[in-house]
Amino acid sequence: MPEPKRLVAGNWKMNLLRAEGIALARAVAAEARGAHRCDLLVCPPFTLLAAVADALGDSGVALGGQDCHAAPAGAYTGCVSAEMLKDAGCGHAIVGHSERRHACGESDGDVRAKTLAAWRAGLVAIVCVGETRAEREAGRAIDIVSAQLAGSVPGEATAANLVVAYEPVWAIGTGLTPTNEDIVEIHAAIRGCIPAGARILYGGSVNPKNAAEILALAEVGGALVGGASLKAQDFWAIAQACG
Ligand code: PEP
Repeated sequence: MPEPKRLVAGNWKMNLLRAEGIALARAVAAEARGAHRCDLLVCPPFTLLAAVADALGDSGVALGGQDCHAAPAGAYTGCVSAEMLKDAGCGHAIVGHSERRHACGESDGDVRAKTLAAWRAGLVAIVCVGETRAEREAGRAIDIVSAQLAGSVPGEATAANLVVAYEPVWAIGTGLTPTNEDIVEIHAAIRGCIPAGARILYGGSVNPKNAAEILALAEVGGALVGGASLKAQDFWAIAQACG
């Protein structure tokens, strides 16, 4: 079976107003219409999904949500269901991002329920895992990530419905990255916990300078990019770093 293309995904987080989001999406779409070697995905805030879907048009750049609720509908003020994401044009949903695990107290069980919800709606779930600095320093990174996967990824996972993003918490937005050896070691451990062929992304301070080296690692199936995805030029440079 041929290796899937690498996936470069932009997590815009809680950034950009409508005009800025449309401009960024148009710039990414324009580049994507030219030659490139990876799959591309952008995950804007919920408020921009419709406008960004429109701006991406037929460029081939996929659209994703940054989170979803486990229920399909109901009295959940402020929440968005996986079905709503699908209806807005999404093909993917990020679940279990560390900013939600830590700031919103989401447990592995919550992430598992959201993963099932994404699948129920026909979305690919991008399940995020990653250790804190203290956990890495205590030599527990692999145990922590393995436990997160066991608790967050349901048994029905396949290479088609699951992407795992390994994002060490201490590397997100800090400019720090693990060594290549550490990335390879933990990606290999993740590989042993998920279906063959499912992509494993690295995330945490990926930028145009370090992308080529990280994306050259055979175990790395792509990148989940936060800060650098907010500038079309940087996001595109990372996409072009896929060999
Ligand atoms: C993220 O939050 O998913 C992320 C990878 O952020 P950054 O690239 O800014 O470290």
